Amino acid sequence: MKGVAILGSTGSIGASTLDVVRRHPGRFGIVALAADRNDVRLLEQCIEFRPAIAALASIEAAGRLAAAIRDRGLPTRVLAGEAGLAEVAVHPAASQVMAAIVGAAGLGPTLAAAAAGKRVLLANKESLVCAGHLLLEVVAASGAELVPIDSEHNAIFQCLPQPVAAGRCPPGVRRILLTASGGPFRNWSAERLACATPEQAVAHPNWSMGRKISVDSATLMNKGLELIEACLLFGVDPARVEVLVHPQSIVHSMVEYADGSVLAQLGNPDMRTPIAHALGWPERIDSGVESLDLVTIGQLGFEAPDLERFPSLRLAREAAEAGGTAPAVLNAANEVTVAAFLDRRLNFTDMARVIDSVLQRHDVSRVTSLEGVLAADAWGREAAGRALGSLEARSA
Ligand code: NAD
Ligand code: MG
Repeated sequence: MKGVAILGSTGSIGASTLDVVRRHPGRFGIVALAADRNDVRLLEQCIEFRPAIAALASIEAAGRLAAAIRDRGLPTRVLAGEAGLAEVAVHPAASQVMAAIVGAAGLGPTLAAAAAGKRVLLANKESLVCAGHLLLEVVAASGAELVPIDSEHNAIFQCLPQPVAAGRCPPGVRRILLTASGGPFRNWSAERLACATPEQAVAHPNWSMGRKISVDSATLMNKGLELIEACLLFGVDPARVEVLVHPQSIVHSMVEYADGSVLAQLGNPDMRTPIAHALGWPERIDSGVESLDLVTIGQLGFEAPDLERFPSLRLAREAAEAGGTAPAVLNAANEVTVAAFLDRRLNFTDMARVIDSVLQRHDVSRVTSLEGVLAADAWGREAAGRALGSLEARSA
């Protein structure tokens, strides 16, 4: 029986992970769960999976959860705040930790799980974007395993010769072909994009996901973050990663080799496939995902991304090339602008403008410590907040 801990259990990836675990009662046991503030959902999960510990970042919500757990006589110990999340990340009975907190908030717990030598199932791409080299160093030093959950990176992982050493490119690999659905606005004109609403942005045509990553998919910033993620995970320069828009989301990404061979991983767009792959690896286990019906799908299309309408992808590529603190600043500014867009304080197309202005003002420096990453993250958030403020003042 393998113990599993989930950071971000109440979210979209968290729910899909529990769905896969539920199919294998003798194989996996949930030992620890953590989330932000949804005590109602976490209580339901505690009732079903009876973890040893459950943590909420919100102290208030953790208090409500603790009372409800006591009332029901459940065995789960409830923890709160950052220390609680860290305990979930390093629980001794968990050999696998699903890192599925959204945003840079996942960085601390993800690093803690890696330092404790766990198999880290990495969905939280923002932690890798912010602190990539540090995270890889921690993985190498502790002997942890990093198995990517992002469908594209999981696909690339599957197309590379095994075992895959995190951060190192195997010989013979020429390029990585990273596929993108193009998001809900793939065919929208620039004028129409300026008026896109949060409701339209989160209605992804192929994938059902959390709100933040859905907005990132609509701007193509998600693909930009994934470009940075791919460079770090597989040890390649940005120039060796090509982004291809593939509207059907069936080919999840590809690896091109020196001899011209291109290996692809295909499947229905359902995150339970990469989750089951990572949980079971190197074995293959049932995920609940239906067989791929290529006859019904009929055609697979590919096109180049439009960097004029979707400048976020260009900004991310520039940040990947600049390296150092640039990706952390890009990510921080993106988190601030996505939140503002979801709050209707910022237009869809102004998100990239704000991020661009923040990056232009940033003096890139090398990343040598976690403190350096956190300082870059804080600087990016503050600079984006100021840029937002001046935009609001101008439109008032
Ligand atoms: P979501 O918004 O549905 O869930 C986020 C989870 O993180 C929730 O459980 C929430 O409680 C928790 N959380 C948020 N802030 C927190 C904090 N400060 N402290 C503790 N917990 C916190 O998001 P999601 O779609 O499940 O995405 C999670 C991560 O996985 C993101 O990094 C995303 O980019 C990545 N990812 C998601 C998908 C997908 O299909 N949903 C695909 C690839 C990668
Ligand atoms: Mg992805």
